[in-house]
Amino acid sequence: MANQLVGKRKVGDTVLLKKKDMHRLVEALADEHNIFGPVRKDGQVVFSRIAQATELDYYVNSMMSPKKYLHRPREIILSGHIGDGFLAEESIPDRKQVLMAVKPCDVHAILYLDKVFNHDFQDPYYNARREKTFIVGLNCTEVGENCFCSSMDTGPELKEGYDLLLTNLGDRYTVDVGSEAGVEIVERIGLEDAQISDAMLKLRKIRVAREQMSKRLNTKDLPQILRANLGHIYWPQVGEECLGCANCVMVCPTCYCYNVVDQVDMSLKNVERIRSWDSCQVLDFAAVSGGNFRKEQATRMKQFVCHKLSYSLDQYGLFGCVGCGRCITWCPAEIDITKVAQEIRGGES
Ligand code: SF4
Ligand code: SF4
Repeated sequence: MANQLVGKRKVGDTVLLKKKDMHRLVEALADEHNIFGPVRKDGQVVFSRIAQATELDYYVNSMMSPKKYLHRPREIILSGHIGDGFLAEESIPDRKQVLMAVKPCDVHAILYLDKVFNHDFQDPYYNARREKTFIVGLNCTEVGENCFCSSMDTGPELKEGYDLLLTNLGDRYTVDVGSEAGVEIVERIGLEDAQISDAMLKLRKIRVAREQMSKRLNTKDLPQILRANLGHIYWPQVGEECLGCANCVMVCPTCYCYNVVDQVDMSLKNVERIRSWDSCQVLDFAAVSGGNFRKEQATRMKQFVCHKLSYSLDQYGLFGCVGCGRCITWCPAEIDITKVAQEIRGGES
C-alpha cells in the first residue's frame, strides 16, 4: 500500500482516519443524514442522535442495538380522517440516516432483518428506512463477558454489510470502504492510504479480541437437537426461573415480532394505525380466538430459544441469534441462552 494522499477511491480500499479527525467524517455525513451513534447516558451506552463527533463514546456493547432506527419500537403507519369522505395517509419515512459505529453482530442482525422483512412480504416501512441508511461499522477489538459472536460467525470482524468499516488502532482508525456511497464519503474527506503495518495491526487486534472471547455456543447439529428435544425435562425448569419480563426480546437485535392496533380518538373521526414491538415471552402474545396456545412460561421460553437457534434456519437459512449476549446481560433471572442450549444438548459444550 503506497502512502498516497487523496486518490481515486474504490470499494475494497483501506484508508486511515486519525481519531482527532473523526469530526470530518461526521461533518461529511451530517450534510444529508440524521446520524445515530453510541453515546453514554445514565452510565449505559445507548444509540442516540448525535450532532458532533465528540458525543460518540467508545464502547464494547450497547444496551439496545440500532435496530430501533429501522424497525421502530412504536410507529404510526397510517393516519385516517373522516371528513367529506375517508382520507388515509401512510407514513413512509423519507430522511436519510447514518448508523455510526455499529458492531459486527448488530450489522449481521440488520442483514437478518433484511431477510425477515422481505420474505413473505416486502415491508414498506422497514425497507424505506433501510434504503436510506448508511452503515459505519466498527470491528471489535475488545469483547464483553457475554459476547459469543465467534460461535455464530458474526464477529468480531465484519466482512459484509457496511458502507464504511472502522477498526480502532489507538490514535487512528483503519477505514475499509464497502460501497459506492462509502467511496463518495472518503473521497470527499480525502484520507491517506493505510500502510501494511496498519493492516497487520488491525488483524492482530481482531485476533486478540477473538481469543479473549470465552463464552461459546456449540452450534453443531443444534437445530436438529432442539427440535428432537421439545419435551426435554429442562424446559419446565428454565420456565420456572423465567419471569416473563421480555427484557431478552426488547434488547435482542434480531427479534422482529410486532402488534398492530387501530386507535380512534374521542371524536370518532381520526384514527391512527400503530405498530409496536411485541414479545413471544409475554402471555398475550399467543392469545388467539378460542384460547392461548402458550399458557405456560416454559413454552414461551422454549419458543424464544428454539426460534433463534432452530426454526429460523428453516425460515431464513440463518440462525436468529448473532451472539451479542444482550439477552444474558439484561435477564433479571440470569438465564443464559448458551447454557440453555447446552442443557438441552445434554450438558457437554
Ligand atoms: S438471542 Fe440473545 S445473544 Fe442472540 S442475538 Fe438475541 S439478544 Fe443477542
Ligand atoms: S429476560 Fe430473562 S426473565 Fe425476562 S423473559 Fe427473558 S429469559 Fe425470562
